[in-house]
Amino acid sequence: MTFPATLDVPSSVRQIIERLEAEGYESWCVGGAIRDALLPSEERGDFDVATAATPDRVQALFPHTVPVGIKFGTIGVLDAERTLHEVTTFRRDVRTDGRHAEVEFGVSLEEDLARRDFTINAIAYHPFRHEWRDPFQGQDDLDRRLIRAVGDPSQRFKEDYLRILRGIRFAARFGFQIERDTWEAAHRAAAGLGGLSAERVRDEWFKGLKTAKSLRHLVGQWVRIGAATTWLPELCSPEEIEQANEEIGPMRRRAFTSELDGPGLQGRVRDPIVLTQLLCLDPVAVLQRLKASNREIARAAAMMVGPAEPDGAEEVAVRRWLAAVGAAADDLAVLWVLRRQQPWPWEALVRRIRERGDPLTRADLAITGDDLLAAGVQPGPSVGKCLESLLSVVVDNPATN
Ligand code: ATP
Ligand code: MG
Repeated sequence: MTFPATLDVPSSVRQIIERLEAEGYESWCVGGAIRDALLPSEERGDFDVATAATPDRVQALFPHTVPVGIKFGTIGVLDAERTLHEVTTFRRDVRTDGRHAEVEFGVSLEEDLARRDFTINAIAYHPFRHEWRDPFQGQDDLDRRLIRAVGDPSQRFKEDYLRILRGIRFAARFGFQIERDTWEAAHRAAAGLGGLSAERVRDEWFKGLKTAKSLRHLVGQWVRIGAATTWLPELCSPEEIEQANEEIGPMRRRAFTSELDGPGLQGRVRDPIVLTQLLCLDPVAVLQRLKASNREIARAAAMMVGPAEPDGAEEVAVRRWLAAVGAAADDLAVLWVLRRQQPWPWEALVRRIRERGDPLTRADLAITGDDLLAAGVQPGPSVGKCLESLLSVVVDNPATN
């Protein structure tokens, strides 16, 4: 493949580069958007800018900026539409410990590209001169569909172990192979994954779930490289997930017989919480370890509480189920489709029940706790118990409300 003569770069990004170069600071488009633009099937991401200007110069030159990662040289520049573009000073790592880097500015574009993780992520394009810089032959690796570390892979993974997970994510997203030396070095370095922060690992896991062409590929690589042992010991292998039948507990009673990557997954918005639920035996423990938000952990916990599906096809069964699972209903529906790879059978019934506004929670009852007290019910737990039994009558027969 030869590079295209020109690339369609958004005008706001070109304006940023024009402004920086007018001040004498060499600036280029870099990063994932360049890679994606060279892959016909990919949607175009954000164009990052790499520049010779130091962060304080970038802040001085643009009226609206955000210091997104100023220590590492990244300033967010807001355009007229308030869209943020990342502008990062050419930099080189002076010290690394596998988790963080200390960087130094005042280096060339070539040095900046040399500190990037994979050859396919180390290509630069100049949107006015239409020049390309590809010192590590990233374009050949795009052609060969290979993830290859820039430089010595062992060294590169030791500098930042997160690159191991990034490599796996890109391989699963594009359906690429990981080049042999890169894979072997990643495998040898995998023990270092334990030193990463939970937040960075979580971001990688979630991004992987959202973008993998094949979940089977993604999960298989996490297991094979040794990342699962450290961070997701609850992760099932694809075979285990498919065998997760009777013995595992009420939520997993249904045979998970279909392909992980079947039609239930395609074309859906990928929700990392539901997918973690699908793939791991104890999703709450996983999300706690990965320091997911309390809201995300609560969603996972809620999916474990109620029955996985209504106990029948009649409206009353569906109402009882909706009342039992509460806010988890929609997540459970998505999970059901992923497990069974079939359309969810209760879709129309649920819609009808919701449109009618049938009572499903205590708050929907026409009677309140105060009404019960006024009617002579003892204050204390009997009020709650009474409301609960009224609710079950009303759920069975909404007209009684
Ligand atoms: P995505 O589509 O996921 O955003 P991306 O390649 O743009 O992919 P970013 O995390 O946005 O990934 O990073 C932008 C660029 O910065 C990468 O293309 C790569 O050149 C460089 N980069 C990011 N993280 C690292 C890292 N941990 N080590 C080395 N280079 C990195
Ligand atoms: Mg990006």
